Amino acid sequence: MPRKAEKLGRGRKRCQACGAINPARAVECKSCGYQFVKGGKSRAPGKVGGSATADDAAIQEVVSFIRQHGSVESARQVVEDVRQLLEKVGSMEKILKCFDLVSLIRENI
Ligand SMILES: [Zn+2]
Repeated sequence: MPRKAEKLGRGRKRCQACGAINPARAVECKSCGYQFVKGGKSRAPGKVGGSATADDAAIQEVVSFIRQHGSVESARQVVEDVRQLLEKVGSMEKILKCFDLVSLIRENI
């Protein structure tokens, strides 16, 4: 059944993996975690509608991240917090700049 295309509006993009609408700046789909930036290796990962593809290298990275943060729950919380901050601030670069500014300010207090 062909569904009428929703208007995406400005600054939005649709996840090609699950169809969720995301902010244009989103690095990954907030619904399925699909990576927009590197876009996966190929356009069509073969399986559609499944979970985000996770390769071994990615899993290892995430596992060591989880170890740093003690548990899956706290690691997930960190990622979630960063993602929300990123959505509000706009870019990681800006966030890091803010960290610099804040630490400068604190040094002067
Ligand atoms: Zn998605």
